[in-house]
Amino acid sequence: MKIICVGRNYAQHINELQNEKPDEPVLFIKPDSAVLPNKNPLYLPDFANEFHYEAELIVKINKLGKYIAPEFAHRYYDEIGLGIDVTARDLQNKLKTKGLPWEKAKAFHNSAVVSPFFLPKSNFFDLQNIHFSLFKNGHKVQEGYTADMLWKIDELISYISTFFMLKKGDLIFTGTPAGVGKMEINDEFVGYIEDIEMFRIRVK
Ligand code: ZN
Repeated sequence: MKIICVGRNYAQHINELQNEKPDEPVLFIKPDSAVLPNKNPLYLPDFANEFHYEAELIVKINKLGKYIAPEFAHRYYDEIGLGIDVTARDLQNKLKTKGLPWEKAKAFHNSAVVSPFFLPKSNFFDLQNIHFSLFKNGHKVQEGYTADMLWKIDELISYISTFFMLKKGDLIFTGTPAGVGKMEINDEFVGYIEDIEMFRIRVK
């Protein structure tokens, strides 16, 4: 199992990091070893000083596919979840400045918070009109509407499958909306899709 992450998929988040709006989706991979085991606290590693949360809707791939046309992409997933793309922002900025790959800042142990359960997509009338949110210590810090994605879920699956063969169980992190910020020791993060609590984690 692998995780394919999409960067810069919400215009407001691109602005807050002062990134350029890309012509194509920005992709990177996290290995299966990045997944935070269910119910474990998130221990921040000591190789960086500034860790950021990025709440993202997750799509779970249900079968093997490559070169998937956008109009068939809906056949490749049945469930959606929620996660956090944990990012070592200071390290990422250092690597970006040097033009080096981001991997160390994005794919380290426990850098992928994945909700312990997923919701059937049939629960939703329109997948491109889902509201999700992240609370830090009881305060809402991020909220997103999938309607604001620059590339919609089916377009992402098609694009990703041009480069990476998708396999059953792979997860696609579909990008974060505005509001990213620091994760610090003792913070508690709770994520929601609509009003359903999807995960609750403690930072250590
Ligand atoms: Zn992200």
